Amino acid sequence: MISVTEALGLINATSVPERIKPMRIEKTLGLILGEDITAPINMPPFRQSAMDGYAFIWSENDNIVLHVIDTFKAGDTTNIDLKPEEAVRIFTGAKVPDQADTVVMQEHVNTKDQQAIIIKAPKKGANVRPVGEQVKKGDVVLKKGLQINEATIGFLAGLGIRKVAVIKPPKIAILVTGNELQNAGTPLADGAIYESNSIMLKMALKRFGYSKVKIFRARDTLKATKQGIKKGLKFGDVLLISGGISVGDYDFVKEALESKKVKAHFYKINQKPGKPLWFGQKDQKFVFALPGNPASALTCFYVYALPLIKKISGIKTPHLQRTEARISSDFNNNSGKSLFLKATLKDNELSILQGQQSSMLHTFSSSNVLAYIPEDVKTISKGDAITCIKLNSYGN
Ligand code: AMP
Ligand code: MG
Repeated sequence: MISVTEALGLINATSVPERIKPMRIEKTLGLILGEDITAPINMPPFRQSAMDGYAFIWSENDNIVLHVIDTFKAGDTTNIDLKPEEAVRIFTGAKVPDQADTVVMQEHVNTKDQQAIIIKAPKKGANVRPVGEQVKKGDVVLKKGLQINEATIGFLAGLGIRKVAVIKPPKIAILVTGNELQNAGTPLADGAIYESNSIMLKMALKRFGYSKVKIFRARDTLKATKQGIKKGLKFGDVLLISGGISVGDYDFVKEALESKKVKAHFYKINQKPGKPLWFGQKDQKFVFALPGNPASALTCFYVYALPLIKKISGIKTPHLQRTEARISSDFNNNSGKSLFLKATLKDNELSILQGQQSSMLHTFSSSNVLAYIPEDVKTISKGDAITCIKLNSYGN
């Protein structure tokens, strides 16, 4: 049995393959950029008006009267031979005539017939976006490792880029074990319970952006468990197994993993809930055997499995965010184990919820943090600072 710190150390030390793949930009939200991006064009690509107004050749004169000789709208490709004291009526985004160096905004102009009388003189060069003002062709404009957001995708689209190399997120297989498990939708048979871990894990994965998820089932026999592992490893880059990893006579997962030559990195952590967690790998595929009790499974998922999944996706800070908060009442930890307690954090006040048993999702569903109490901390007094793992963020 290892400590929480050791287990996290082993997860963090696990090296993961770099899986780079070109992808259409609309599929890359939340993913990590797998290459440096060089601008294929200048942005803006031509001298662009930043305002609706009049383009002209700037001069020292104060009250300039401009003679308006043409109109340029966004998208127009004409040019014109402009002379001093002439102007072109221009609109935002339009190409500024070559000779013009300044755009006066229309709010600073009075117009009469074909004349524009400047009532507030702009500075020389005002409202003209120079070529390459935002980015210059050939410059590295985005670095490998960046997490792509909607602004990144918009920026790439603006550069005319339709595909980029990204770190391909892993596919996840979920293998559910347990003879007692029944799907929701039929009256509950005697001795059975409704199966809930697979949908819970699938939704947790969905929340963090993982959609390539497939669920497999196995009855509690060695043969079925081995078959399930084989199928799960074939589909997934990561296999999450639910249940069957304890020491009962009908827990076959450990033996099946060994016989499938999945190499163990650790088994059993001195923690509550989630003590029987098993973690290992076969070649470049990773396996977490999560305890079947729903609250244990979810705790192990958040603390150990999700960070590895995010690491495979190229995310540099893959753990859920932590924060310190003041506990609202005394607490004793006589278990000798590290605890992950379902709790609520509001206005920096941490309240540990009633109902911490590993089967209790009820408490989990109304908590927004897991309070972490290390194994060597026995007494906690009201007002002490406690580390909390934040549960309610969306996305990667
Ligand atoms: P196990 O880890 O297989 O010994 O299961 C521990 C407890 O969790 C048992 O009470 C199981 O019935 C329950 N359990 C296991 N798998 C699931 C599941 N997929 N959904 C809901 N409860 C489960
Ligand atoms: Mg079981």
